[in-house]
Amino acid sequence: MITRNIQNALLLAVLLSPLLAAQNSTPPTHALRAGAATVDITPPVEPFEDRNKNLRHDAGEPFEDLNRNQRFDPIWLGGFGKGRAANRINDPLWARAIVLADSNNVQIALVVVDLVGLLHVDCLDISQAVERAHGIPAQNVIIGSTHNHHGPDTLGLWGPRFSRTGATPSYRARVRNACTRAIGEASNRLTPVQVRSAQISDGVYLRDSRKPAVTDPILRAIRFEIPGSDRAVASLFVYSCHPEVLWSKNQALTSDFPHYLRNQVESDSGGIALFWPGVIGGLQTPRVAKKDFAHAEKMGRHLAQRGLEALSQASIDPVKSIEIRHRRVLWPIDNKIFRLAIALGVLPGGDRLEYPRPGILGRIGARPFIPSRLFHLRLGPIEIVTIPGELFPELGKTIRQSMTGRNRILLGLTDGMVGYILPADQWTAKGYEESMSIGKETGPRLIEDMRALISTPPR
Ligand SMILES: [Zn+2]
Repeated sequence: MITRNIQNALLLAVLLSPLLAAQNSTPPTHALRAGAATVDITPPVEPFEDRNKNLRHDAGEPFEDLNRNQRFDPIWLGGFGKGRAANRINDPLWARAIVLADSNNVQIALVVVDLVGLLHVDCLDISQAVERAHGIPAQNVIIGSTHNHHGPDTLGLWGPRFSRTGATPSYRARVRNACTRAIGEASNRLTPVQVRSAQISDGVYLRDSRKPAVTDPILRAIRFEIPGSDRAVASLFVYSCHPEVLWSKNQALTSDFPHYLRNQVESDSGGIALFWPGVIGGLQTPRVAKKDFAHAEKMGRHLAQRGLEALSQASIDPVKSIEIRHRRVLWPIDNKIFRLAIALGVLPGGDRLEYPRPGILGRIGARPFIPSRLFHLRLGPIEIVTIPGELFPELGKTIRQSMTGRNRILLGLTDGMVGYILPADQWTAKGYEESMSIGKETGPRLIEDMRALISTPPR
């Protein structure tokens, strides 16, 4: 028996030797693998005739009863004023995911949805579901929103009136499932890739609506490519501007300029394209002649072309491994309106806030604290940090100074949504951004937490 085994082993070695030799002469293997996927999150929309042009359906206005329940089922759009109901679909909304794996089998997932924001509680649930279903550790799952202003309200603030939430538990559940599924499908498609990244300054379609005018006009792009080519498996474009070309009277579901940006990137270089907002507080908004689809398309295509040009001139990044860590943060909610909205159940997630002292009594008169996570990710020369809100570019600059990567990327609206994050010296009693912020302390606390995260040695 033993001799036969040895004979077989020798025979196998002889048969395999040409293959082994061929493997040795192939180009160096790629340390990184990537996969990408999309899942549609467009809700059904019942078209209606808005006869009095008040942006919502009133009794007597004709509508198409898609689910035949004999009443109008509103989709409240998150962004701008309250009580804006969708009445048609222009382009589908998406959850778009990229999964990356290195040769040590460190796996991470990035997923972004075409919505105004996702609460930390939803992100936490998604990351735990991903770990259970697909084996990617929950602390390696990065979930963001484009801050789209023309998708269903998922934060609750844009219902028909203050006391009625605009968010439905069933749609939030659908979004969580879609994110988990998109990540699962992306991880099933892992394939070797090379990485290219580029940055280019372009403020043609960008303006700051709040003084002092400080923008971050740098478009940052990463492309995960089929080795030896410039064809994409996945592309990630990051730009610091609100997706709100269509403005406050639009009632069509759309993902605004990112829709056209992604289409252009995909038709030019293949694969799946993601758009992620950068630092959009302060307030970074489109500079367009007209607030219509033609201009959303112009802006999206322009940014896509500039990013693609920059990528075509970039060389391949040496990426040998994935480094990821995170820091859990707890920030106080001082905004009285937000606290009331939480108490009324308008803003979901109130049961998962934390208080300095335990028990019901500990809550009386106490400030609630909202948890979130900050992520720090390194892919060779690419360094990424994430922020759970709309950061003022002034603070973005401060954070970038403490980073060391060649390409320093800040992803906004990630792992939660605490609204605007202002520099302490710009806080006033009555500003718009202040009214959509959890409080004055968030900015200084974020800077402190980010410094601690960035300076932590890698695991
Ligand atoms: Zn905003």
